[in-house]
Amino acid sequence: MSKVIEKIPAKGQLQPGEVALVGSGPGDPELLTIKVLRFIEQAEVAIYDRLVSDEIMALLPADCEKYYVGKEQAKHCVPQDGINKMLAEQALLGKRVLRLKGGDPFVFGRGGEEAEHLLEQGINCHIASGVTAASACTTYAGIPLTHRGVAQGCTFITGHLQNDGQLNLPWTSLAAGGQTVVFYMGINSLPTISKELVAHGRSADTPAALIRNGTRENQETYRGTLGSLQELVEKHNIKPPTLIVIGEVVNQFDSKNVGTLGYLKADECAKIVKAS
Ligand code: SAH
Repeated sequence: MSKVIEKIPAKGQLQPGEVALVGSGPGDPELLTIKVLRFIEQAEVAIYDRLVSDEIMALLPADCEKYYVGKEQAKHCVPQDGINKMLAEQALLGKRVLRLKGGDPFVFGRGGEEAEHLLEQGINCHIASGVTAASACTTYAGIPLTHRGVAQGCTFITGHLQNDGQLNLPWTSLAAGGQTVVFYMGINSLPTISKELVAHGRSADTPAALIRNGTRENQETYRGTLGSLQELVEKHNIKPPTLIVIGEVVNQFDSKNVGTLGYLKADECAKIVKAS
């Protein structure tokens, strides 16, 4: 590790029989938090999800045992109960266990349920944040989540359909102007999301974006409007992991190439709307 990182004292060490429940961020290893990086180095067993990137998996110690437990919408490769059991079993064997999730473990990650299960069995957990997708993917796409005079706040919300195929969300507050709304797991329910937001008063012309594989080499960013997003999904065959971003901030830096790698190039930002 670099000399700078060595100067930051570690607050916790992963002990045998403990679990570190951590977030790896949305993919780019440069976005790992130092705390998570340290737990990665200490892991003897890693139980990881689909959203953890290959580059981050490559950072695990060579002799670390790795178990993939999937987690794709609607087709969990190991059901949540099985994941909970596996975590506890490995910890009770006296291993240093790393539970590695995409983004932040406590943002649409069911990290809370896993922690509850472990604590009930007397197993100590370290918890360490990762950068959540909404934060990093928008930044890499050149979209500020809030911007003075444009968006005073932002909401992160799940678009995951319930078992009955319904999506019961607080549409009136989500449709209010002056804010950015980011949907996780919303690709399959996008037609409902657009329809409800427009029905509750948000203009179909509101700028909106889709960000797929955010922060990774293959990040794709599509800008359009609330009314045109579904066409973009069909045209580009957009699949998860994708975020839906709705709000005027989407066009804050108006350029075709802007931000694909988290880099704003002065001569490509055609229109910069200054905060008044
Ligand atoms: N705990 C994660 C979220 C898990 S829910 C976090 O904090 O980021 C899974 C959803 O997150 C995906 O369906 C997608 O909407 C979003 N997501 C996660 N990683 C992403 C990425 N690299 N690019 C775009 N969306 C991503």
